[in-house]
Amino acid sequence: MTQLHDISREKSAELFDKAKNYFPGGVNSPVRAFKSVYGTPLFIERGDKARIWDADGNEFIDYCCSWGPLILGHNNDQIREAVAAQLYKGLSFGAPTRLENELAELILSRNSYIEMIRFVSSGTEAVMSAIRLARGFTKRDKIVKFDGCYHGHSDSLLVKAGSGLVTFGETSSAGVPKAFADETIVISLNDKEALVEVFTSFPNEIAAVIIEGIPANNGLLIQDSEYIHFLRQLTAQHGTLLIFDEVITGFRLGFEGAAGYYGVQPDIITYGKIIGGGMPVGAYGASKALMKYISPDGGVYQAGTLSGNPVAMAAGIAALEILVQPDFYTKQEETTKRFVETIRRYIAEKGYEVQLFTVGSIFWFAFTTQSSIKRADDIDPRSMENYKIMHRALLNQGIYFGPSGYEVGFISSAHTESDLDTTVAAVKIALDIVFQ
Ligand code: PMP
Repeated sequence: MTQLHDISREKSAELFDKAKNYFPGGVNSPVRAFKSVYGTPLFIERGDKARIWDADGNEFIDYCCSWGPLILGHNNDQIREAVAAQLYKGLSFGAPTRLENELAELILSRNSYIEMIRFVSSGTEAVMSAIRLARGFTKRDKIVKFDGCYHGHSDSLLVKAGSGLVTFGETSSAGVPKAFADETIVISLNDKEALVEVFTSFPNEIAAVIIEGIPANNGLLIQDSEYIHFLRQLTAQHGTLLIFDEVITGFRLGFEGAAGYYGVQPDIITYGKIIGGGMPVGAYGASKALMKYISPDGGVYQAGTLSGNPVAMAAGIAALEILVQPDFYTKQEETTKRFVETIRRYIAEKGYEVQLFTVGSIFWFAFTTQSSIKRADDIDPRSMENYKIMHRALLNQGIYFGPSGYEVGFISSAHTESDLDTTVAAVKIALDIVFQ
């Protein structure tokens, strides 16, 4: 029977005890509290390339990558230098800068799915603003979202599925007025029937349907391309805007994200994470005709003291300049594919009840025998116990995965073949422990 020694978490535990006096649950964002896995959260001191080090001096190969932004790994030379150079010129002006133009040009000249963009400071803000734009443009109030998609923590979107095929959502957070939840309809992913029914039940009432490019916040729920095209067709037919939330998939699945992956033109696209190179940036983009509805040109109000912040723009430019280099994404995908295939072979050889799903440089372990999972309710919550065991066994071998089985893993360009080989060996041992 394989046994691993638990890593020391003494200093992290001390820091966490202090943090509990300062922040609710000791954290500034809930999943960081390690509630779904074993032990106290690790307090991270620094990162370099694919590695991070915690307060106790433990070293890990990192597959959380700050929940997605770090497609180039930690402490990337170009990003660090661009940020450092900007620090000497000023941190914030609240006035337009050349850097905003540069980042916009870089994006708009290479992403054929949007013609104009607005920078904000987080993914939540980007999505909240996109919803307001859709409502302002269509003069309709209702929106449709999917069970299992996360779009940040704004009121309209903290809504979970009610019972039945097509129902008004129920709030998934205290503090969200019922009246808000009543404007959000939640349906299942990859279900054409539900989609048709929603438009039959609420004709001329739905401002927008919002979907994650590829849902990656509740496991990795890869949708059929045909379904996404059907969704596009149906929304257009009903004068409803289609919003692709590409906060994770944007600049991850390719420079044109999930829109480019499916070859589908959404009406509005939201971005976050990678677009800021690790700094707080979000954005939403659409056609010029639609973006004219945003203030000061139009009547849909949206603003931000730190929007287009020069330091964040400098980081974003440096990151995206690397991503537009030839073969960046092909290489990322090939590396990920090799990693995934090697682990899959081991799983098959051992007959373990676990699947490894992947798209681009994203992967997700699902403890199931189902060969495909496309909907949130296809996931058995009991399978998360296995993830907990795997997570602990990986940490004990110097591999850092996200602290919840519903979270996906990310491979960055800083992960070397040797990092991945080390990880494959550790994953094999972790799976042996889960299934022993
Ligand atoms: N949309 C998606 C698809 C996300 O994954 C996230 C964050 N994980 C958000 C929106 C919210 O972004 P932020 O955390 O930057 O507010």
